[in-house]
Amino acid sequence: MTIRLAASILSANFAELAHEIAAAERGGADLIHVDVMDGHFVPNITVGPPVVRAIKRVAQVPLDVHLMIEDPDRYLDAFVEAGASMLSVHVEVLPHLHRTISAIKQRGVKAGVVLNPSTPVVSIEEVARDLDYVLVMTVNPGFGGQSFIPRSVDKIRAVRALLQSAGSTAPIEVDGGIDLHTVGLVVDAGAELLVAGHAICGGGQPEQAARALKQAALAARPQAARP
Ligand code: ZN
Repeated sequence: MTIRLAASILSANFAELAHEIAAAERGGADLIHVDVMDGHFVPNITVGPPVVRAIKRVAQVPLDVHLMIEDPDRYLDAFVEAGASMLSVHVEVLPHLHRTISAIKQRGVKAGVVLNPSTPVVSIEEVARDLDYVLVMTVNPGFGGQSFIPRSVDKIRAVRALLQSAGSTAPIEVDGGIDLHTVGLVVDAGAELLVAGHAICGGGQPEQAARALKQAALAARPQAARP
């Protein structure tokens, strides 16, 4: 089990983005998580490929891009060219999910599928073996700083079981309300990629906050999973 911390820029001060990214990296962030919202699939609007490209120029770690948009197929090339190393798409908007996953992987990028809180785990059953990671939303997507949905813990376990029965070792990512209080619960349930936005950038001390969160996550690993 390899714990990785993905610092989300959603709660960052965008005028100081390069500084906040550097601070999160010094604190141990393994990835920079970019939440792309289109005002259609989710009620909020955030950033597009030009900002991803700008982040790519300053970030030392890979970019994990989460597409909360209605028609992700149209924009895969733009985000790959902008510098995404990981691209995740929502199962709720994709009738041809297998084709989209293949298209992402063909571009040399890790492919992830995202499940909203109300989306059943079984919706990824047929593509489980094709996925590089599964992102379990632990809040309803759209805004930073929301509270963790407690039922997500059981869902993480169910996704873990589904992946295992499909013969997949793909890691589970969690996104939404991950902080010092909830990180132990999700790691214990089997999450390895931990997105945190508000918990890192919300308090004005991103380096210290990232370090504390990563330490808490590492401490929460099941005994059998420690080196
Ligand atoms: Zn996200």
